[in-house]
Amino acid sequence: MADTHPPEDCGNAASTIRPVIDAGRCEAKAACVVACPYDVFEIRVLTTQERSALPLLGRLKAWAHGNRRAFAVRAQACHACGLCVKACPEQAIALQPVAKV
Ligand code: SF4
Repeated sequence: MADTHPPEDCGNAASTIRPVIDAGRCEAKAACVVACPYDVFEIRVLTTQERSALPLLGRLKAWAHGNRRAFAVRAQACHACGLCVKACPEQAIALQPVAKV
């Protein structure tokens, strides 16, 4: 079972790091939804436009998984604990710094 408790001293304020999901790797297994203590992720069906933007292999993979995948719908709440990265069985999630404007 996934550890859903964030490290107490991760030292990262929300909105400095965001999770980026590789759409070509995600298989909608929802490990990130379970692992994230900040409710950053949702699994939903791809829109027609999102499906069209995928390469052929990505469309086939999406079809094989019910045209569903994870989205970081509350990415601004990410505290960079890394639990989603560890939990994803497809290694589909990377953490990236948020660009400052
Ligand atoms: S790194 Fe961010 S998105 Fe991933 S589990 Fe931690 S808080 Fe959630």
